[in-house]
Amino acid sequence: MGYKSWFVTHGKKHQAIMKKLSHLTDEEVLTYFEFENMCKSEPHFCPLYAKHQKCHEMESLNCYLCACPNFRFDDEGFKEIEGKPLKSYCNIDSKEGSQHIGKDAIHQNCTGCSVPHHKAFIRQHFQRDWFAMMHEVTPDTDPTA
Ligand code: SF4
Repeated sequence: MGYKSWFVTHGKKHQAIMKKLSHLTDEEVLTYFEFENMCKSEPHFCPLYAKHQKCHEMESLNCYLCACPNFRFDDEGFKEIEGKPLKSYCNIDSKEGSQHIGKDAIHQNCTGCSVPHHKAFIRQHFQRDWFAMMHEVTPDTDPTA
């Protein structure tokens, strides 16, 4: 699966949940998206929920921003670096992230970065419309089209 396909699939899942939560305040929505509740209430949102496994070892893991607004991707590649397309990078060059140089392409590696899972960060970027919140992640102006 390319980035775009995951991005659209995930965004639609997020939208479907938000439709159900239209009666909640923003803070109540954030509480709903806490890992423990999401495992129980939205078991299909993340494949790790089935094993009750966190993607990052942190006490208060919030899943509202699974997919980070600082991420940048282009399945076609932004540019070539030493003959390989750069398919993703971190816009803030987080020290918790790293670069994965694969056989055919270069990707951003976010596995060590907990930035988007903190409530304070989510509050800064919060929008109820996931695609609006993530509009800078891809140069594609309408990835769902
Ligand atoms: S390294 Fe961290 S801040 Fe950067 S895109 Fe990945 S999760 Fe977001």
